[in-house]
Amino acid sequence: MLKKLEIVIVGGGTAGWMCAAALASLAGEKVCNITLVESDEIGSVGVGEATLPHMKFFNDRIGIDEADMMKQTQATIKLGIQFVDWGSLGNSYVHPFGSHGARIDGVEFHQQWARVRHLDAIKPIDAYSFAIQSALQNKFQFPGQDQQNINSTFSYAYHFDAGLYANYLRRFAEQKHVKRVEGKITHITNHPDSGNIASILLESGEKISGDYFIDCSGFRSLLLGKNLQAQFEDWSKWLVCDKAFAVASKVTDELPPYTQSKAKAAGWQWRIPLQHRTGNGYVFCSDFISDDEAANSLLQGINGEALSEPRLLKFTSGRYKKSWTKNCIAVGLASGFLEPLESTSIYLIKASILNFIKLLPGANPQQAILDEYNRLMDIEYERIRDFLILHYHLNQRDDSELWRYCRAMEVPDSLKEKIHLFKHRGYVDSYTYGLFSVPSWVSVLAGQNLVQEGMDPFASKLSVEAASQKLQGIYQNIASALDDTPTHKAFIANYCSARP
Ligand SMILES: Cc1cc2nc3c(=O)[nH]c(=O)nc-3n(C[C@H](O)[C@H](O)[C@H](O)COP(=O)(O)OP(=O)(O)OC[C@H]3O[C@@H](n4cnc5c(N)ncnc54)[C@H](O)[C@@H]3O)c2cc1C
Repeated sequence: MLKKLEIVIVGGGTAGWMCAAALASLAGEKVCNITLVESDEIGSVGVGEATLPHMKFFNDRIGIDEADMMKQTQATIKLGIQFVDWGSLGNSYVHPFGSHGARIDGVEFHQQWARVRHLDAIKPIDAYSFAIQSALQNKFQFPGQDQQNINSTFSYAYHFDAGLYANYLRRFAEQKHVKRVEGKITHITNHPDSGNIASILLESGEKISGDYFIDCSGFRSLLLGKNLQAQFEDWSKWLVCDKAFAVASKVTDELPPYTQSKAKAAGWQWRIPLQHRTGNGYVFCSDFISDDEAANSLLQGINGEALSEPRLLKFTSGRYKKSWTKNCIAVGLASGFLEPLESTSIYLIKASILNFIKLLPGANPQQAILDEYNRLMDIEYERIRDFLILHYHLNQRDDSELWRYCRAMEVPDSLKEKIHLFKHRGYVDSYTYGLFSVPSWVSVLAGQNLVQEGMDPFASKLSVEAASQKLQGIYQNIASALDDTPTHKAFIANYCSARP
C-alpha cells in the first residue's frame, strides 16, 4: 500500500491557500496530510486582484460555489483588459476573454477583417467582439449555451479582494482538514545525503517534517531560492518595470466589467473595480522615474478619493529555472514573477498546483517526474513572457525613453517569429497548452497597429462585398444581443451583492 504523504505548505497568501484548498479537495485525506505554515507578522503581498477565466475553472474544479465566493470576496466580473495609450498615444483597444466575430466559411475572422478593413463600413476589430462591446457598455450576463449565438463567444474572470479570497480558501481548506500553523520559520534542515528538505523549524521551537514542501513564501522564496539555491532567470532586460505603487480608492458610480491598463511615461497604471473599492496601481521602471514622481502620478490618475497612502512594491521579472527541485515545489511569487500586465500570476499558481497534482508521485519521485513538471512550467512561463514583451515592444510612442527603449530592444527569437508570421500572413499559432489563445494575440497585434501585409489565401474565396456584409451582420447581431443584456451593476446586485 502507498504511504500517505506529508505535505507542508510554507506561506498563506493566495498561492499557499490555493494549494491547500486544491490538494485537500482533489487529493484529499486518504492521499495526504496537509499542514500550512504562515506568519501573521510577515503577512502576504496584498495585491493580485485581477484574474483570468481559468480562475473559474479552478474554483469549479475544487468545488467552490461561485456566487458565494463572489459575495464573500467583493468580486466583480472581468471580461478583458482595456489598453489605453499602448501602441500610440490616443490609441485604445481591449484584449477580450472571447473571440472577435466568428470564423467565416472556415477562415479566421481577423483574416477577413484585415482584408476589408479599408472599407468605410468596416469598424475597428473591437466592434466585432461580443465580449468587448459588452465590457465597454458596462453590461454582463453569463455566456449563452447555444454555440450558434454570438452571446456564447466569450468567457469571463473575476476581480476580487485578494485578502478576502485567501481567507475564503482558508475556511474552505480548514473544513477539509488542512492544519494551519501560525509562526515564523527560522531554520530549514536538509537530509545530509539527498539534500532534500527534511524539516522546518519555527520561532516557537516547533519542528515540522514532510515528504514534500511547497514553497509559497512569496518573493522571499525561502525554500527554493534561499535554501536550495535554485538558479533564477532574470528577464528584466525585456520586462523592465521593477516597482509598483498600489492604492485603493472609493468606488465611483460606474462598475466597468474590465480591468483598465493605461500606459504612462515610465510604465502603466491599472484600475480594478471591486464592489467595495477600486484597486489602482502604477507599475513603473525606476530607471525612468523617481518614487515620488510615480506616487504622485498614480494619485493624479485615479477617479475616486484615495483610501490610504500608496504602498511601494519591488520586483524583478523572471523565474526560477526549475521550480520543482528535490522535494520542493515553489508556487506563486516564490517560483517567479512576470509583471502584472496580463494578470498571469494567479493563473500560474493554478497551473503549478494542477500540474503537481496531475504528476503527484509517491514519496520518492523519479527524476522524470520533476523534469516533466519543469518542462510544462517552462512552456507556461515562456509563452506568457513573449506575450507581455509584445505589449512593450510593439509601440510607436516617441514621448519617453521607456517606450523608445522597448521598441528598439532585441526580443526573444520565439517572439520575433510570432510577429513575423502575423505580419507575413496573419498567422497565429493556436497551441492548446499554455497562454494565450489566437484572439488574445490578435487583439494586441492588431490593437497596437501591426498591419498584416499578407493573409490567408482562402479568405479570397469570398468576395470583398460578401465578406463586408458578413462583418456587418456580426456587428448587428452583437448590438441586438446586447439589448437584452443587463448592466454589470444589476447583475452583481442580483447574483452576488456583498451588501448586507
Ligand atoms: C504590483 C503587483 C500587482 C499584482 N497584480 C496581480 C494581478 O492583478 N493578478 C494576478 O494574478 N497576480 C497579480 N500579482 C501577483 C499576486 O499578487 C501573487 O501572485 C499572489 O498574491 C500570490 O502571492 P504569494 O502567495 O505567492 O505570496 P505572498 O502573498 O507574499 O505570501 C507569502 C506567504 O509566505 C509567508 N511567509 C514568508 N516568509 C515566512 C516565514 N519566514 N515564516 C512563515 N511564513 C512566511 C507569509 O506570511 C505569507 O503568508 C501582482 C503582484 C504585484 C507585485
